[in-house]
Amino acid sequence: MGNQVIKLSTAAQEQLIQSYRAHAVNPPPHARFSAKMPHCVITVYNSGKVMFQGRAANEEAAKWGDSIKKETSVPKHTLPAGFSDWSVIGSDEVGKGDYFGPLVVAAAYVPKEKIALVKELGVKDSKLLTDKDILRIAKDLHVTIPYQKATLHNPTYNKMQRTMTQGKMTAIAHNAALSALLKKLDETPEAILIDQFAEKAVYYRHLSSETDIVKDDVYFSTKAEGLHVAVAAASILARAFFLKEMDKLSATLGATLPKGAGAKVDQVAATLILRYGQERLNDIAKVHFANTKKAMRLCEQKR
Ligand code: MN
Repeated sequence: MGNQVIKLSTAAQEQLIQSYRAHAVNPPPHARFSAKMPHCVITVYNSGKVMFQGRAANEEAAKWGDSIKKETSVPKHTLPAGFSDWSVIGSDEVGKGDYFGPLVVAAAYVPKEKIALVKELGVKDSKLLTDKDILRIAKDLHVTIPYQKATLHNPTYNKMQRTMTQGKMTAIAHNAALSALLKKLDETPEAILIDQFAEKAVYYRHLSSETDIVKDDVYFSTKAEGLHVAVAAASILARAFFLKEMDKLSATLGATLPKGAGAKVDQVAATLILRYGQERLNDIAKVHFANTKKAMRLCEQKR
């Protein structure tokens, strides 16, 4: 949530500007480029500092922060030539940074003969789409490609969180979605691409106590939504489901649950504690986030 500033080399700035060119708006003073998207505004200053603002700020900034680190320290993981035209299962998760609502992973299979059709439906990086677009495209994807979700609803999430990290929970959910989807398919995909949230070795270490571990032809990459449309499709399906769950939770509580983990979230959490008691958070929120303590403090002030 909010605000992120990173410093980029001239080459990296150029790369960033190219990739957001479609969303360019007039830059403010002392800036050479500005892009406006539904969930993030990006400004490249003459100093080389790049500011990310909005709901997707952290996520967007991490991509570029990551890519710099990658260039200097970690050997770049490249996919085989022509990968974007292969028959691929993509997987991605949503809700990791949101205090309210579940953690959702979706895995989606796009065989090569359906790549053009899926793109035709408007599938692209979900961060560039509005919630309304996402719900509409997800509805079309639902009847177009096979997919599988793995959802950690808040009670389950909070229970698992007592004994494991969020990274491990995320890995387990990805693996569950992937293995269930593979069982549903009549054909074997050429590859599986996971939008990278952990190093490959760490991912498999997290799965060490699982029984059905998906290992064959698995690739990991950051910014994978741009590398194969299957990951973009998975991301849209996960996000649409997350949005619907948030609406459901909001309806039962009689309050609109905000996304992210910012000050607004603390306010709403405090209101809900006063109305329903702190125990209720277990059903609707990721209680280990700092927001719980902040909301409790707000309650003290209101009492
Ligand atoms: Mn992701």
